[in-house]
Amino acid sequence: MSLISLNDNITLLKGIGLAQEKKFEKLNIFTFRDLLFHIPFRYRDTSEILNIEDFKYIQEGTFLAQIVEVKNIYTRTRKVLTKVKVIDQYNSSLDISFFNQSYLAKTLKVGEWYIFDGKITEKGKIKNIYNPKYEKYAGDISLQKHLGKIIGIYHETEGISSRYIRNTILPFEKNIESVIEDPLPLNILNKNSLQNLGHSITEIHFPSSQESLIKARERLGFDEMLRIGVDIEKDREKRRKLQSLPILEDKALTKDFLSSLPFTLTNDQLRGSEEIIEDISKKKPMNRLLNGDVGSGKTVVAALAILQCIRNGYSAVILAPTTVLAQQHFDTFKKILKPFDVDIDIWISTQKSKAKSPNSLIVGTHAVLYKSDIPENLNLVIVDEQHRFGVEQREKLLKGGKKIPHYLTMTATPIPRSLTEVVFGNVEVSTIKEKPKMQKQIITKFVPYQKRDDCFDWINKKIKESKYQEQAFIVYPLIEESAILDAKAVLTEYQNLKNIHFKDIKTELMHGRLKEKEKTEILERFRKKEINILVSTSVIEVGIDMPDATVMVIEDAHRFGLAQLHQLRGRVGRGEKESYCFVIPSQNEDSNTEVIDRLKYFASHPSGFDVAEYDLQRRGPGEVYGIKQSGIPQFKIASLTDIQLFKKAKDVAKELVKDDNVDLNYILENIFR
Ligand code: ADP
Ligand code: MG
Repeated sequence: MSLISLNDNITLLKGIGLAQEKKFEKLNIFTFRDLLFHIPFRYRDTSEILNIEDFKYIQEGTFLAQIVEVKNIYTRTRKVLTKVKVIDQYNSSLDISFFNQSYLAKTLKVGEWYIFDGKITEKGKIKNIYNPKYEKYAGDISLQKHLGKIIGIYHETEGISSRYIRNTILPFEKNIESVIEDPLPLNILNKNSLQNLGHSITEIHFPSSQESLIKARERLGFDEMLRIGVDIEKDREKRRKLQSLPILEDKALTKDFLSSLPFTLTNDQLRGSEEIIEDISKKKPMNRLLNGDVGSGKTVVAALAILQCIRNGYSAVILAPTTVLAQQHFDTFKKILKPFDVDIDIWISTQKSKAKSPNSLIVGTHAVLYKSDIPENLNLVIVDEQHRFGVEQREKLLKGGKKIPHYLTMTATPIPRSLTEVVFGNVEVSTIKEKPKMQKQIITKFVPYQKRDDCFDWINKKIKESKYQEQAFIVYPLIEESAILDAKAVLTEYQNLKNIHFKDIKTELMHGRLKEKEKTEILERFRKKEINILVSTSVIEVGIDMPDATVMVIEDAHRFGLAQLHQLRGRVGRGEKESYCFVIPSQNEDSNTEVIDRLKYFASHPSGFDVAEYDLQRRGPGEVYGIKQSGIPQFKIASLTDIQLFKKAKDVAKELVKDDNVDLNYILENIFR
């Protein structure tokens, strides 16, 4: 084959003109490298050639047969049906039909042998096979291009089929290895038993066996992980040079704080606190994530760190995503820190109190970040529900002073341990799994759609029996402006609920398009019990504390990821009373067993880590709430949960970043992506 290099435009390939170039663009393929790196997303193994009897029995697969008859039939709807009769070497015959490919009557010649791959469909007594894949038999299976082997299926676009992609790459099959130079040093490949890149690319397009495909996938997955690993290592290197001021633990203060609480800390809370106090006592800024379920008691853990920070003579900031949550934190911290005489200020859009003492705790929303007078002595930044914050905002805060403040993020999105490695690779993670004992479990029930009315009647009665002291949330999936999905229009549902189910109960609507101020006002009225039922899109999902809200209803529940449902469930059960969560699928999904199983699993599992793991196993990492927001790119091959491979990649990354003789940019530009 002609000499072509990886960076050449694909139009230099034979048969690819401007029209094809445009189509390839849609697949993000511009260069020869892009083409080679456009790899199959799945495979079909057609390497087992069946005889027709076996094919009929299995109803699916690949077989070799001779054409005995071909004819075009024109149907009444003016469609063309090409009927082909084939026979195999054992004289078994089969009828094959092709739709709208009348040219086949000319291509498929009587007497010639073909390999077919497809499925049998039965219509009454007539067994038929429609539109199978086919390739002329070359006399020897090893000479086939498209069938009789493991075949890659690619992401396609109009005019660029998998077959077309295969045909375009095929002439280079024997050259790929010499065109792709492996940027990774040989000793690293050997040490980690990784296969050469060029060979892996060849095998990923044209696997010679399942085993070699696995090897190829491992190498390419490794490259994807290496990219993340290098980012993490570089970030770590950068951080290693950063300086911060240590916050030394006053042990007596810790003791006083712990005994001031009306409860004892759980083991997980204690361990989290120790890890944080250890981190902040160093001259290197803490970068830690406190990952704990809703209600696991992260606030007191944060409070202890804040207290130590203030006692050391520094200021601290805690940021919440919304004004409501900031206000709530403000009240909570005032209560918790009361015995310790800490100056606490609130900085929210409508309000900014002035610090009375030189070192204080500032509770605020991110609006606080835009104030120019972030205290010089700021030494601890805590961000609650971090994925709501942009990276730039965080950077701005970190650049505040000369020394870098210690940094803690808290998230109530339980991220399975198996994911934190990759997703939060450059962050230390403290996990709180165990919940405070005295906390009641929220009784969760899966409610079939047909029982929905009963559910509302029950709530109606419950609220009245409590003399309008108990409250309920009814949540709907967020509706995009252009939603064509069958998601219920919250507004219509709200009217129905108000006029049919809850006639004499004060019911209010809150949706995402309300202004922050309006939302705050509604929540205030809810808190004062001027409202008993709050109908809402998922805007209430983060951190609101309403002690008398005892019922959470989630409609169209199947639209939410389980981790997200779990967050919603955590909005109730904040007080003393028994609390309930009901998940109801839409009418359409009422007999969908997958939906029912999922929701039932949710109902029977109180731990956020468990339900997140469930979605992770069944629906993949992309569906786990919080992963999309994490900024981790979608891998083509690697699995976010392949810790083994990730460890390998991280070790190699470390080695490469440290080694001055290694041209890291060259490697990153040339490994698989
Ligand atoms: P989250 O992790 O969701 O932020 P919070 O910090 O708001 O949870 O704690 C939830 C509730 O549990 C609060 O009312 C808090 O006072 C209480 N709590 C925290 N830790 C304990 C504990 N060890 N024992 C009993 N109650 C606790
Ligand atoms: Mg919280």
